[in-house]
Amino acid sequence: MLRIENIHKSYPMGKSKLHALKGVSLTVNDGEFMSIMGSSGSGKSTLLNILGLLDSFDQGLYYLDNLVIQNLTETRAAFYRNKYFGFVFQSFNLISFKNAMENIALPLYYQGVSRKKRNAIALEYLERMGLREWANHLPSELSGGQKQRVAIARALVTQPKVILADEPTGALDSQTSLEVMELLKEVNREGITVIIVTHEHDISQMTNRIVRLRDGMIIEDIAVEKKDTICLT
Ligand code: ADP
Ligand code: MG
Repeated sequence: MLRIENIHKSYPMGKSKLHALKGVSLTVNDGEFMSIMGSSGSGKSTLLNILGLLDSFDQGLYYLDNLVIQNLTETRAAFYRNKYFGFVFQSFNLISFKNAMENIALPLYYQGVSRKKRNAIALEYLERMGLREWANHLPSELSGGQKQRVAIARALVTQPKVILADEPTGALDSQTSLEVMELLKEVNREGITVIIVTHEHDISQMTNRIVRLRDGMIIEDIAVEKKDTICLT
C-alpha cells in the first residue's frame, strides 16, 4: 500500500519557486488499477516520480507499506525503488544499442543475475509479450507498440509490486494504445498494482479509479463505472 499525506513539492524557478504539488493526500491499495488525470503541468509526473522514489518532496508524509519514506539517501531510494517499482514511460526509454532481450534483461544485470539466467528470463517475458521472434532486434527495428511491450516486460522482470506508467500510450495510435492498456490490465489481474498517468479521457476510463489533478491539487477521486457495452470509436 502507498499512502501520502499532505505532500508539497516546489521546484526552484530563478529567485522564486514553482509550487508543483500543493498538499496532495492519496492512498493506493494493493492491487488497484488506477489513473492520474490532469492537463499538462498539473503535477501528474511530479506525483508519480515522488511515489516511485525518483524525486523527493518538501513537506508531508509518505508511507510505502509501513515504511516511512523520509530523507532517503540515493542508495536507499534505489534499493526500495528496485524492490517495489517498475517504470514505464511515454518515450519507452529503451537502450538503442541493446536488443529487445538485452533491454529486458538489464534490470537483472543490476541485481547481479548471470547473463545466461537473465537472458533466459528475458526470453520468457518476450514470449509472454508475443515478441519471441523479436529478441535480437534493436529498438529502432520495432514499432511503437512493440517497444512499449518490451518496456513493460523490462518493468516486470524484477517482479515489482507496483507499475508506475507515465503517459504509456502518449506516443501510440489509438488501436495500439488499447492493446497496451489491455496488457497493463492483464498485469494488474496478476496482482500487480498499476498506476497510469494520462491526460486522455478514454485511457483513464479503462482504469478502475481516476484521481484528477489540477494546479497541483487533487480535485476529484472517483471509481469508474464499468459498463458491459464496448465503445467503438
Ligand atoms: P504534468 O506531468 O502534469 O504535465 P509536471 O509534474 O511535469 O506536470 O509539472 C508540474 C509543474 O512543475 C509544471 O509547471 C512544470 O513546469 C513544473 N516542473 C516539473 N518538473 C520541473 C523541474 N524539474 N524543474 C522546474 N519545474 C518543473
Ligand atoms: Mg508529465
